[in-house]
Amino acid sequence: MKVLVAVKRVVDYSVRVRVRADGSGVETANVKMSMNPFDEIAVEEAVRWRESGQAEELTVLSAGPDACQETLRTALAMGADRGIHLRVPDPGGALEPLALAKLLAQQVAREPVDIVLLGKQAIDDDANQTGQMLAGLLGWPQGTFCSAIRFVGEGLEVVREVDGGLEHLALELPAVLTTDLRLNEPRYVKLPNIMKAKKKPIEVREAAELGVDIAPRVQIIQVAEPARRTAGVVLNDATELVARLREEAKVI
Ligand code: AMP
Repeated sequence: MKVLVAVKRVVDYSVRVRVRADGSGVETANVKMSMNPFDEIAVEEAVRWRESGQAEELTVLSAGPDACQETLRTALAMGADRGIHLRVPDPGGALEPLALAKLLAQQVAREPVDIVLLGKQAIDDDANQTGQMLAGLLGWPQGTFCSAIRFVGEGLEVVREVDGGLEHLALELPAVLTTDLRLNEPRYVKLPNIMKAKKKPIEVREAAELGVDIAPRVQIIQVAEPARRTAGVVLNDATELVARLREEAKVI
C-alpha cells in the first residue's frame, strides 16, 4: 500500500499572530514556522502504518516556497521515506485549497497511491476544504475528521468526530482521509533521525509544470486584528447588574 501525506508549512501554533501593517495579510517575516499540527498527526499515523508493515511506501508532499523543504525534512525525520516539493515561488506562496487539491490530483494521476492523508484543516487559512475537494476531483471516497482509522479486509473503517457524536464509516480504497486531533499523539523527533533524514530524497518539481491553473480565485480585501477586549468590572450585586444591562448595554 502506498500513502501520500500532504504537509503544509504554517506559522507555528504558539506564535502570537500579527497582522501586516498594510492589512494585506498576516506577518510571516521572521516568524517561527512549523508543520501544520493536523499534518503532523497525519504523518504520525502513516509512519505507524509504515512501521507495522501496512504501508510499503510513505511519501510526503508540500507545496509552496523553498522553505517548505524544512517541513518535509521534519516529516522525513518522523519516518517518511521520501519528499516531494511542489515549488511555488514567492510571493505567489499562498495557495488556495482548490489549487492544492488540483495539484494533488495531478500528482496522484502521475504516481498512484492507495491513500492520500491530509490534516482536517490548515491553522493559517482554517479552510478545511482541501481533502474534500481532492476526493471530489478524484472521485474517491472520503473520511474526514478521523479520530480512528483501521484496516479491515481490502478497505478501511474510520471513526469521525461529528457534532452529534461519533460516526463509523467503511471505505473502499483508494481513499482520501483527513485527520482530527484525537487520532494520535505525534512522536518527538530525535536527533539521530534528524541526521538520517538529511540523506532521504526530496524531489523538487515546479508546480507550474503540473499544468494546473493555481491562480487565486479569492481576493483578500483586508485583514484586521479583532477589536481589543476591554477590562471587565466587578459589580456589587444583581440589582446593579440588571440596571447596567438595562441602561448601558440596553439588552433587557
Ligand atoms: P485547508 O483546506 O487549507 O484547511 O488544508 C487542509 C489540509 O490540506 C492541510 O492540513 C494539509 O494537509 C493540506 N494542505 C493545505 N495546503 C497545503 C500545502 N501548501 N502543501 C501541502 N499540503 C497542504
